[in-house]
Amino acid sequence: MRPEALNPLFVETPALEGVGPKLQRPLEKLGLKRVRDLAYHLPERFVERHAVADLDEAQVGENVIVALTVREHRSAPGRGPFRVLAEDAKGNVCTITYFGRAAYSGKKALPVGEQRWVAGRLDQYGQMLQIVHPDHVAESASALTGHVREPVYGLSEGLTQGRIASLVAQALKGLPGLPEWCEPGLVERMGWPLWADALVTAHRRADPAGRDRLAYDELLANALALMLVRASNRSQKGTPLLGDGRLRAKLNLPFALTGAQRRSITEIEGDLAQQAPMLRLLQGDVGSGKTVVALSAMLIAVEAGTQAAMLAPTEILARQHHETLTRMAQGTGVEIALLTGRDKGRARESILMGLLDGSIDILVGTHAIFQDAVAYKNLALAVIDEQHRFGVGQRLLLAKKGRRTPHFLAMTATPIPRTLTLAQYGEMDVSRLDELPPGRQAIDTRVVATERMDDVVGALARHLEGGGQAYWVCPMVHENEGDDLAAAEARYAALKERFGEDVVLVHGQLRPEMKDAAMERFSAGEAKLLVATTVIEVGVDVPNATLMVIEQAERFGLAQLHQLRGRVGRGQAKSVCLLLRGAELSETGRRRLALMRETQDGFRLAEEDLELRGGGELLGTRQSGDTPFRIASLEQIQRLLPVAHDDARLLIERDGGLAGERGEAARLLLYLFERDWGVQLLRGG
Ligand code: ADP
Ligand code: MG
Repeated sequence: MRPEALNPLFVETPALEGVGPKLQRPLEKLGLKRVRDLAYHLPERFVERHAVADLDEAQVGENVIVALTVREHRSAPGRGPFRVLAEDAKGNVCTITYFGRAAYSGKKALPVGEQRWVAGRLDQYGQMLQIVHPDHVAESASALTGHVREPVYGLSEGLTQGRIASLVAQALKGLPGLPEWCEPGLVERMGWPLWADALVTAHRRADPAGRDRLAYDELLANALALMLVRASNRSQKGTPLLGDGRLRAKLNLPFALTGAQRRSITEIEGDLAQQAPMLRLLQGDVGSGKTVVALSAMLIAVEAGTQAAMLAPTEILARQHHETLTRMAQGTGVEIALLTGRDKGRARESILMGLLDGSIDILVGTHAIFQDAVAYKNLALAVIDEQHRFGVGQRLLLAKKGRRTPHFLAMTATPIPRTLTLAQYGEMDVSRLDELPPGRQAIDTRVVATERMDDVVGALARHLEGGGQAYWVCPMVHENEGDDLAAAEARYAALKERFGEDVVLVHGQLRPEMKDAAMERFSAGEAKLLVATTVIEVGVDVPNATLMVIEQAERFGLAQLHQLRGRVGRGQAKSVCLLLRGAELSETGRRRLALMRETQDGFRLAEEDLELRGGGELLGTRQSGDTPFRIASLEQIQRLLPVAHDDARLLIERDGGLAGERGEAARLLLYLFERDWGVQLLRGG
């Protein structure tokens, strides 16, 4: 149960003044469901306005507050803008422009012949000074004194700055006083304000210390929760699994294991031999050979007389895994079954029986393997592929499946830097497959200026004439989806004109059957060139496609480029990846692309991308979903996470039950950031 002190923060937004059903959807789109969310909806930046006596004192592009006298209203015919012609004290003319329905409020706020104080951004339109959609219009200067500096919030359609600001103000009014959960020495050393003060100030002005404090709170909550999971895990009883190696010896692999694979298997073997259940993450790029490591782990469980289960995120992947594992384990006599949501009736019954009587040693499947009806004779190891899709909750569910808590191995192909690994999987031990199996060809990666498009198309033509296939990737960024889509379609049209019917197009807004049909033609080799936005599906494997062109490569994240590039280099032939760069490339952009040329190590790319982006990032800007945090920026994560981590460890070592004064405060923190599963573990264990 959530501590009462926090209740005011968890009041839902409809309870606030001025939030009707119409506002609810845009609020929810921003994740603003409760008072807490509004209070934490921190400004992206602040506007500073310059109050001027007349427009001669102002610069174009500046945010100003100025007195203007309205001379004339001009409505354009049809859907054109509504314009207000106004004059400053010196007779300088300025147009105030409104589009669409805003015209109505403009007309009312700026009556002809009257003087008004207008706050907005001064632009130039042709020869004319212009303010489009002023932020504020008031009858007196004093009404605008509070608006000299204002926060700028992230918005969604249907919301205005004013509306958000008023909701945030309501949220901040009701902030409860909470006890300090941060270590007092740290607070003092850093010069951090109290929690509530930090929040209030964060909405008023740029306050680096306060923003750090708020970010730290989030990092500390996360570190604490992960550490509680870890502590509770340590206190649980699992089954020590000692394999004698007899099944692994019968594995008939067509290759020798890499050093990284052998090391990972040894680490897993060591964990499995312990009473405390294993909690381990196996990180490895696509193609690094995670499957055989997972199989070895599962064989240890079977050698020890128990069962293992492997969970895949999709049905297709579950089938693929089942096939691969069955093939690799052929000579071992181990029984491997597949269970997905599709299995019904007799087939399903027989699998359930086999699990219960122990005749099935290894089960591969989708989340269907979690269902209540699925009972195991003796499940001792669970493997989860692509861990990031599964929450802690699901893992706890799985823990109930064994007589004792099963050992747990998660696998992920997403290369993330070490600091973020710590943030996301801090409760787990990590094995890294940082060495690709031998014989993989390096992909020849080159950065080419967009002006050399003709050369690129020429090279593409030669490649296709030689019987090869190719990918052409166009960027698709959420904010300018429309423009990007248009650009991709234009490119498709141009390439089609040159190469004829051999070209297919795939993008996110196509109907799935169209997309599948296009992919099919490309996979079958009928289509030679696939033009795509970033939606090239996971699992696309066309060894004959050995050329990839990526347009506006600087707009992609390095991890994304890395994953895209991984689509070529799958066959015997040498592969090439051309990164086209725009003319206006920043220094950081240039270095990022150079890095792509330099290395094919996903971990290194992730590490350096963080370094490059983290450093150049504005203080406190929020992340776009590539970290588990909403408040802490990449830069703050790098700087403050290690501190939060150490602090959390100290706190738990001293006060494992979080029962003392600071411990109680820390519990509040866990609820505040909805890491309360940490608290639940505390109770249970
Ligand atoms: P991941 O799941 O990590 O993306 P897989 O386990 O699917 O990678 O392995 C990719 C490919 O590499 C498979 O065809 C697999 O048989 C092969 N492979 C795995 N380990 C080795 C190795 N040590 N030497 C050569 N090939 C390997
Ligand atoms: Mg895999």
